This record gives sequence, C-alpha cells and structure tokens, in this order.
Amino acid sequence: MSYSQASEWIRAFAAAVADNKEYLTELDSAIGDADHGINMNRGMQAVLGKIDGMSADDVGALLRTVGMTLVSTVGGAGGPLYGTLFLQMGTAAAGRPELSADDWAAALAAGVAGVRSRGKAELGDKTMVDALVPAVEALRAALAEGADFDDALRRSAQAAEEGMKATIPLVARKGRASYLGDRSAHHQDPGATSSWLLVHAAAETFAGEAGQ
Ligand code: ADP
Ligand code: MG
Repeated sequence: MSYSQASEWIRAFAAAVADNKEYLTELDSAIGDADHGINMNRGMQAVLGKIDGMSADDVGALLRTVGMTLVSTVGGAGGPLYGTLFLQMGTAAAGRPELSADDWAAALAAGVAGVRSRGKAELGDKTMVDALVPAVEALRAALAEGADFDDALRRSAQAAEEGMKATIPLVARKGRASYLGDRSAHHQDPGATSSWLLVHAAAETFAGEAGQ
C-alpha cells in the first residue's frame, strides 16, 4: 500500500461518511443523541483540508494527522476513539513510505488495541469494537492462510459487516446507548456502522470492490 493509496483510503472514508451522514445520525438518534454522522462528517471534512499537500513519503505522519484532526474537531465519544485509532495506526506506520499487507494488519491491530484501551469496551458491548475486532481477526487469518491482500481486505470488510449487524440484538454496555439499558436492543450501533464504512473503504480502495 503506497502513500497515495493510504491517502485515497482516507478520502474514500470521508466520502462514505458524507454519503451516510444522515444514516449514521438516524442510527444514533435511536440509541444516542443523534450526532454521530454530523460529528464524523465534521471531522473527516476537516481531515480533507489537512491532508492536502502533505509530503507523500510518510504513511505514519498522514495517519497521525488524521488522528490529531479528529481529536481536535470531533466532540463526544466517537471523535477521541477514532482519533486514537488513527494515532495508533500512525505510530505503527511511522516513517514508512508504503505498507506491506502485514504492516497494514499490524497498524490496524495497533489502532484497534488503542480503541479498546481508551474506551474499555469488550466484544459484545455494542460499540465500534464489535466491527473492528472481527475485521482485524479476519484480516490476520486471511494473510496467515496466504490470501492476496485484496482478498484479505474483502474478508476483513465482510467480517466488519457481520460484526456491525450482530450489534442489532445486543444491549449496550458502553457509551451513551448503555444509559437506555434493555431499550438499546434491536438497533444497530452507529459507531460499529461507521467502523464498517472505514474497513469497507479500505477494501474498495485496494481491492476495487468490497465484501458484499
Ligand atoms: P457520543 O456517544 O458522545 O454522542 P458519537 O455519537 O459520535 O459520540 O459516537 C457514538 C459511538 O461511539 C457508539 O455508537 C459506539 O460505537 C462508540 N462508543 C461509545 N463509547 C465507546 C467505548 N467506550 N468504546 C468504544 N466505542 C464506544
Ligand atoms: Mg452521539
């Protein structure tokens, strides 16, 4: 994955967030405060302004800039959590002009570990972790089996989609949705949905089409 592909991935995620701004906000209106799409779109639009014209030799610096921009422009839970994801990915990729498939998997794993340590959510708590953890696991399993990078990314996106859908019956145990108790069940988690968009954007950028 070259620097320009990494930057294309960020742009594809920003476009997906913009396209799904209302949908994400609608999901958040059912079990939260109806701002997830607005928050993420504000953050990713700010990111687009920042990454234009960055020197194209350090994927880590690119990802850290994305993370810092999200932390500084997005309030609520989602901004700092996505900020951490990108900051940790950027640290893992520091100084690299490009990433191998294994580098990408290691960076994503570091990002997801950052989200888990910051938010303290476990699998099944009905959060973005429910999409991200299966995505990392499927990616690693695919690469370990010798799958091509594009195939591994497709399988990762598919696992994220399944994890996202699996949040529907769950009762939230973290974040704002947890205040609703049992009433949080039967709704898809907004953060898991934006995380699926993130992993799906990677598959689309690098593989041409994503796990669907
Ligand atoms: P807020 O809840 O502050 O309004 P957002 O609406 O932007 O923030 O984001 C809500 C999403 O954040 C949730 O759908 C959930 O996926 C994610 N989230 C909330 N708390 C946590 C946590 N502790 N760990 C991981 N993800 C979380
Ligand atoms: Mg919200």
